[in-house]
Parts: sequence; C-alpha cells; structure tokens
Amino acid sequence: MYDFLIVGSGFFGSVCAYELNKIEKKCLIIDKRRHLGGNVYTENCDGIQVHKYGPHIFHTNDKDIWNYINQFAEFNNYIHNITTISHGKMYNMPFNMNTFNQIWNTKTPIEAQNKLAEQIKNHKNTPPNNLEEQALALVGKDIYELLIKGYTEKQWGCKATELPSFIIKRLPLRFTYNNNYFSDRYQGIPIGGYTQIFEKLTRNIEVKLDTDYFENRLYFNSIADKIIYTGKIDEFFDYNLGTLEYRSLRFDTERLEIENFQGNAQVNYNDTEIPFTRIVEHKHFEFGTQNFTIITKEYPQNWDKTKEAFYPINNPLNQNLFKKYVELSQNHKQVYFGGRLAEYRYYDMHQVIASALTFLKKIKQSEIV
Ligand code: FAD
Ligand code: UDP
Repeated sequence: MYDFLIVGSGFFGSVCAYELNKIEKKCLIIDKRRHLGGNVYTENCDGIQVHKYGPHIFHTNDKDIWNYINQFAEFNNYIHNITTISHGKMYNMPFNMNTFNQIWNTKTPIEAQNKLAEQIKNHKNTPPNNLEEQALALVGKDIYELLIKGYTEKQWGCKATELPSFIIKRLPLRFTYNNNYFSDRYQGIPIGGYTQIFEKLTRNIEVKLDTDYFENRLYFNSIADKIIYTGKIDEFFDYNLGTLEYRSLRFDTERLEIENFQGNAQVNYNDTEIPFTRIVEHKHFEFGTQNFTIITKEYPQNWDKTKEAFYPINNPLNQNLFKKYVELSQNHKQVYFGGRLAEYRYYDMHQVIASALTFLKKIKQSEIV
C-alpha cells in the first residue's frame, strides 16, 4: 500500500517524506509522540514559541541548506549568545575577548593570547585523549574550571576525563569582542516557531501520531515496501547486542508574570551545587514584548528505556557497539537507518537535513526507487 513507511517525524523523516512525495512515492509517517517535529517541536503558548525539547537555533555554513529551510519559514536575525554564571559572576560564552577580560582583565588580543599561551603551555604538546585534556589544551585551567568542568560533568553525568574530546570543540574560541555562539554564516529562528516547518513538509503526507512502530511492528512491515527508520538503532534490533548509552533531560517549564526574567534566551550554570545546566527564556528568541514570560530549567538525567534519549554518548565502548549494529543493519536491505538516533550521532539540525538530502539523492539515483 505504501512505498515507504517513515518511522519518526523529526527532520530526517519529514524531509524524506517531503522529497519522496515530490517524486510520487506514497509515504506513511508514524511517530510515537503526539506531535510532529521530533526534538525540534515548538509549542505556541499565548504567543511565545516554547522550545519543548531544549533551545534550538538554526545555523549553517551551507547556502543550499539555508535556502532549503527558508522555503518553509521566514527566519529572523536572532544571533545566539550565552551568558554563564559561575561562583556568582557572569561570563560571556563562547570564549572570546569579553570572557578573557572578565577573567584576566586583558584588554587587547595580544594580552589575551599571551595569557592563554601561559595557561595552555603544559597541556598543548600531547594529543588530547578526552574532553578534559582537550579543554585544557584549548583554553587552560582558569577557563576550564570556571566555565567548563561543572557544566560538562552535570550535562554528561560523568567525569570530563571519560568523555570524547570532540564535544568541547563544538564551541568557538576567538580573539574578538564577538559573543556569537556559532561561527556559521547563516543563523536565525523561524518566526512563529519550528512546528510550521514540519506542517509544511508533511502537508501532502499521511501521518499517524501517537503510534509506536514497535507496538505493531509486523503490521507496519507488511504495509510498505521499504522503511525509513529514525528511532534508536539498538531498539530496532531488540537491544540484542547490548544497549547503547544516551543522556536524557528533564525540562521544568514555568510561566512568570514578569516581562523579563534573565535578559537573554539562554543562561548557563556551571556550579555543581545547582542541579540544572541552563535556563532558557523562550520569548527572547523572537524578541517578544509580552507582559509575561516563560522559562525552562534543563536538568540532565540518566537515561533508561522509559526516558527520551536526547544525546548519544559517543565514547569508544558505545562506538564499537554501534558499529556492530551497523553491520547487522546491512542485512536489512529494505530498511534505511537515518537521523540522530539511528546514526547515533551528535547531529545538529542542518546536518540532519544534509544527511537526509544526501540519502535521498542516493535512493533517487538507484534502481530501488
Ligand atoms: P528526532 O528529532 O529525534 O526525531 C526522531 C523521531 O522519531 C521522534 O519524533 C521520535 O518520537 C520518533 N520515534 C522514535 N522511535 C519511534 C518509534 N519506535 N515509533 C514511532 N516513532 C518513533 N540542533 C541545532 O541545529 N541547533 C540547536 O540549537 C540544537 N539544540 C538542541 C538541544 C537539545 C536539548 C537537543 C536534544 C538537540 C538539539 N539539536 C540542535 C539537535 C536537533 O534536535 C537534532 O539534530 C534533530 O532533532 C534530529 O532530527 P532527527 O529526525 O534525527 O531526530
Ligand atoms: N559546555 C560547557 N560549558 C558551557 C556550555 C557548553 O562546558 O557553558 C560544553 C559541554 O561539555 C557541552 C558542550 O560544551 O556538552 C557542547 O555545548 P553545546 O552548547 O554545543 O551543547 P548542546 O546545546 O548541544 O547541549
């Protein structure tokens, strides 16, 4: 009855459905949640777009991806910048001339570079084996202890020495007074939220929400020629080689009858005594002027099978297990695995869209379609 069953309505699944529909493939999307969009979903609360699964800022260097996403929404000129509170003081993130000034009172790039060289001199010669070594080699002890260690260990629930180094390389380091959290050429927030994008992507597609693939697997397998699966890869194989580890989050959202709670969309908390990592004040993503505000405190938590899997923990043990699942998946020629959970990758939105478009190019070219 269907050419493709698509499990998951996040960016990977929805972009696939949209593109396959254009070449007249009949698709059914199912999602176990009650809404479209996966973790990118936003909910309109009296005019404030609440990012239900954590703050989502669209950013990319790829003009094609930027043009692609702009077909589905108009983006504003929001530029993400973060302030971090550590031992009662505020610092700018990512690491830039403002941060160096706040910590070392340096005023010029040469002063800051000299100070940084002194901080990293004992750490830069050996290749970093983990996040802590990488952070010390990049920014040295002062910044590591003030802005990284506490946040990282709360976020991931383990020592920074047990984490892969690439995670901290997501953050820019620059010698200008520029607080932009990203260095990409294009950036913004869709005016009116992200959900409209998914409504447009799936406008001509049959969608069944609140529907878990595993609750009726045989039936779903029987109604489509091929499956695009964007859930957890280990779950697809009943965890029979072992369970991949994830980090989960709890979101505590409240409405406050004040206009402006923290003056910024995101404030991070490095101190370990504070159990949450960040507070998001949603109205600032769209420069809202409402006389109330909505904030969300984000509490990292251990993942188990009853919780949402938000972040893959890409340490060597999990990567090895993931590779074994990829080998298994190669025996399932009618099933394609894609997206953050099925590829077990710390993907951003633009990367998931790029991955879906590359995948679609391949299947459009091959004879299977
Ligand atoms: P998902 O969005 O996870 O979608 C997968 C879908 O599959 C879900 O809707 C799920 O319910 C469904 N599903 C799973 N299993 C089943 C099943 N058995 N049956 C039916 N349905 C199923 N990216 C950025 O670019 N910028 C940011 O600022 C940013 N911030 C982030 C903040 C947080 C807290 C998190 C967790 C992620 C952030 N991201 C950000 C990353 C972004 O959320 C992902 O790149 C993107 O959502 C991945 O899309 P996806 O389709 O792969 O997966
Ligand atoms: N990080 C940190 N302090 C901060 C912000 C980030 O140490 O104030 C580290 C932390 O290890 C985090 C990583 O940098 O997991 C990546 O941060 P990013 O903001 O990209 O995380 P995300 O928004 O994906 O949760």
